[in-house]
Parts: sequence; structure tokens; C-alpha cells
Amino acid sequence: MLRTLRTTALLRAQCKNYAATASYASIPQPQTSPDVLYTGLFVNNEWHKSKSGKTFGTINPTTEQTIAEVQSAGKEDVDFAVKAARQAFKLGSPWRRMDASDRGRLLYRLADLMERDQVYLASLETLDNGKPYSMSYNVDLPTAIKNLRYFAGWADKTHGKTIPMDGDFFTYTRHEPVGVCGQIIPWNFPILMMAWKLGPALATGNTIVLKPAEQTSLTALYIAQLVKEAGFPEGVVNVLPGMGETGAFLANHQDVDKVAFTGSTDVGKLIQLASGNTNLKRVTLELGGKSPNIILADTDLDYAVESAHFGLFFNMGQCCCAGSRTFVEDKIYDEFVERSAERAKKRSVGNPFELTTEQGPQVNQEQMDKILGLIKTGQDQGAKIVAGGKRPQGLPGYFVEPTVFADVQDNMTIAREEIFGPVQQLIRFKKLDEVIERANNSDYGLAAGIFTKDLDKANYLVNGLRAGTVWVNTYNALAAQAPFGGYKMSGHGRENGEYALSNYTEVKSVIIKVPQKNS
Ligand code: NAP
Ligand code: MG
Repeated sequence: MLRTLRTTALLRAQCKNYAATASYASIPQPQTSPDVLYTGLFVNNEWHKSKSGKTFGTINPTTEQTIAEVQSAGKEDVDFAVKAARQAFKLGSPWRRMDASDRGRLLYRLADLMERDQVYLASLETLDNGKPYSMSYNVDLPTAIKNLRYFAGWADKTHGKTIPMDGDFFTYTRHEPVGVCGQIIPWNFPILMMAWKLGPALATGNTIVLKPAEQTSLTALYIAQLVKEAGFPEGVVNVLPGMGETGAFLANHQDVDKVAFTGSTDVGKLIQLASGNTNLKRVTLELGGKSPNIILADTDLDYAVESAHFGLFFNMGQCCCAGSRTFVEDKIYDEFVERSAERAKKRSVGNPFELTTEQGPQVNQEQMDKILGLIKTGQDQGAKIVAGGKRPQGLPGYFVEPTVFADVQDNMTIAREEIFGPVQQLIRFKKLDEVIERANNSDYGLAAGIFTKDLDKANYLVNGLRAGTVWVNTYNALAAQAPFGGYKMSGHGRENGEYALSNYTEVKSVIIKVPQKNS
């Protein structure tokens, strides 16, 4: 039987930052040895082996042990899945003939099944990704489930307009699905990113070939089985795990109408190039960030230190919107440094299945090595470590100590490159106009934070910052209703909210001649 435990006060405080999770106050015990694992290619609602016989190991980053061998999709498998998705999209198919409200009902059913299996899915996510189970259960799953329900509601509410066109015409627009959509999702929030991608695409009637990150394929494959159980017709959702080539085959495929990608800016550029080199498929990209979090001297210091800590260290720092350049006003800078270092040293790092653990391992050795390399570069370039800086002693797994850098200058590598790890940069500033210019002096523009009690200053900063989301007196508050996406090299297109629907629809103008005389 599952024993229900209360969350710690700290966890509750952190979860309050999530509009989506404020009501989740208790956590059932995890299932630490999963007994149902899907490891195949999911096409036409059936499980398949890869044609080449290739597999890859998925690793538990806490123990560094292989959990399972997963089938790796090659070119023939991608062709097979795209054909299945194309067939399911054909006029007259069950999916194209289905009432929009019934598409919504299927999405609600999928959300219900994920809720039924919430403990199992959250446990599997923690096993494969390393994130604390308290977060998988309390944040990732509820947010993903709410997301699917939100888009389920949109299924029969997206519609065009009638337009008073010059001349004798009756003109209206139809919002039609784009077609076969390739969706390539990352490893930092595997379930949540799958929900962000499936929800708007299915609500608007598209078909999908989804490629999970090779580090974390297991939950996407489990959800594929739930897609079948929910009753989606065959070929509507296909899931292809793979490594090293699958994503590129999808991005270069002539019969894929759209690719949605979340991940690094480098791969985002390749996907956009692939579109140009093939069929000009639609591309939406949610890429990297180096988000500024601006702390003014008038703020409540305890709250701002805790929020800035959460804004960076949440999910082991593996967040595209992490507040990784913390700009602190000169007058409070020294005290902010001291308190941030104290807070980071108290962060509980260890077994992610322990309910009090705040920080598990990084997702893999490559990420851990990259982070440790950037910490060294920061030291070499003259920034000062005031907390952490190493791999913790005596722990297997890809752990990195919660690290805080002070005396960071704008031109240092750690202030410019995405670290994607538990490494906070504290940067001093004096004037509002100065901080706007410095905050915007980045290739990225995904998110920004502002902490102040002065509404005029907050509004002045909101107006000046070039970022897709600006949080005021909160950080990382994300929910299905609010659009999310980047300016500049953080990508284009918006996920979540009504705006996300336009990523998955083509607009058709229908112009009908209206006779002016009754002949
Ligand atoms: P990545 O390189 O950005 O993305 C890997 C994914 O992209 C895999 O699924 C891969 O599939 C696919 N891919 C690779 N080349 C492709 C191509 N030419 N066309 C289409 N798809 C392609 O992720 P990573 O290597 O795991 O992480 C690198 C950095 O990305 C991290 O350090 C972090 O800074 C950033 N990142 C950002 C986010 C975010 O949320 N924005 C998430 C994860 C990582 P195949 O292996 O099948 O090719
Ligand atoms: Mg893994």
C-alpha cells in the first residue's frame, strides 16, 4: 500500500512558485523498481524493433547503471513512422472524420490515464532522468496533466473568422491542421515537454512522430502505450526513440510538414537549415537561454535570495529559462552573495527518491563534465567561488555541488554561455538603464526576472527587457495558459496558451462569389 507523506515546508514553498501545483500537498511513496518498461518503437499503436537491430542503453544517472536497452530508429523506421502518420492524416481516416469535441475527449482520457499512473510515471522519470521524485510527482506530472486538459478544452474552440472582403464575396477562414508533425523533445522535462508538444498538435487534428531524448526515452514510451489505451486511432501518435541520427532523418524528411524542437540552439539551427534544404517544413524552436534575474535593493531580501536560488537551482539547473545571470543592485550585493552562498550550501543533494532531496544528479556524464569544465573556466577567468565548485565526494552518479560564483563580469564565459547546471552567477549593477542594456546584451532572450517592491521600476524594466517571459517577484512560474518561448536565438513560436495553437494550424481563406441579383 502507498504511504502518504507530507512534503517538507521548503518543498511547499518552492512549489508555491508554480501556479499549476499549489494544491498538491502530499506525495505517495515512489515505486523504485519499475516493473513495466516499454523499449520499442511505437508505430501504428504497435511495438516494433528497429529494422537495423540497433539499440542503445538508457542510464540511471544516480547509479550510472544501465536500466534497459532501447530500440534505436534508423532511416527505414523513420520512413515507416512518417508513412503511418501520413496515412492517419488522410482525408476520410478515422482521425480526420472525428468530431473536434471527440479529439478533446481523447486528450482528456490520456490525461486521466497519466493521473491514474502518476506514481509510476513520476518514479520512472526520476529513475531515468535523476530529478527528485518529489518534483516529478509534484511538479512535472501535474503540470503535464493540466496541460493536456487545457488543450483538450481547445479542440472544439479553435475557429476562423468571417471577413468583410471588398467585392461581392462571402469570405471566411478555416484553421486546418498542418499535417504530419515531427516533435523532438529534450531530457530535462521529458514528460512535461511531451505534453507541451502533444496537446496543441492533437487538439488541432495533426498526426505526430515524436522523438524523445536518448537519455530519457522511457516515460515517453510508457505514455505511448497510454495513447493506445486512451483510444487514439492508429498512426496518430508514433514515438521513435533513437540516437545519433533519428532527429536529423525527421528534420530532413520530405513528407514531414512541421518540426517542433526543444533543445540547444546549435541543433535548432540545423533543423531550420534542414527545412530550407528540403520542403520548407514549418519549424518552431524552443532553444537555450542565459536569462537575467534582476534584484533591486528595495526587495524583501530573504524572499529574493530564496527565489533567485530556486530560479537557478531548480531541476539541477537544467532549465532553458534558468535565471543564470543574477544581477544584484550594488547596495545589497555583498549581503546577497553571503546569503546565496549559505543557501546553496544547505541545499540537500543526494538520492532523488528521498523525499527531502532537493537536488539529484545531472542527466549524464557529458552534462556533468561540461558543467565542471565551465566552473573551471569561471575560476580561470577570475570569478570567485563562494559555494560548491566540485563533484561531491563519495557519491556515485553525475552529481555537481550547488555552486555560486561572485564577482562575475559580463564578458566571462560563465556569464555568456548556457551552463545548464547548478551554477549561479552573481553580477553587480548600479542603475536601471545600465542593467537593461547589460541584461539584453546576450544572444538569448527566453526569460527574465525582476524583484522589487516599486511598481514603476518593475514596469520600466518589463518594457526594456527583450525576453519572451518576464517574471516579477516570482520565477519559473509556468502554466498551460501562459505562452512561453523566446526572442532572438532562444527560438521562435510560442508554446502553451492560445498562441500555441497557431504553431499547429494553417489558415485557409475561403472566398465565395455571392450573386447580387436573384436571377
Ligand atoms: P541537443 O543536442 O540540443 O539535442 C539533442 C536532440 O536533438 C536529440 O534528440 C537528437 O536526436 C536531436 N538532433 C541532433 N541533431 C539533429 C539534427 N541535425 N536534426 C534534428 N534533430 C537533431 O541536446 P543535448 O546534446 O542533450 O544537450 C546539449 C545542450 O543543449 C545542453 O547542454 C543544454 O545547454 C541544451 N539543452 C537545452 C534544452 C532546453 O530546454 N532548451 C534542453 C536540453 C538541452 P538524434 O540523436 O536522433 O540525432
Ligand atoms: Mg537515463
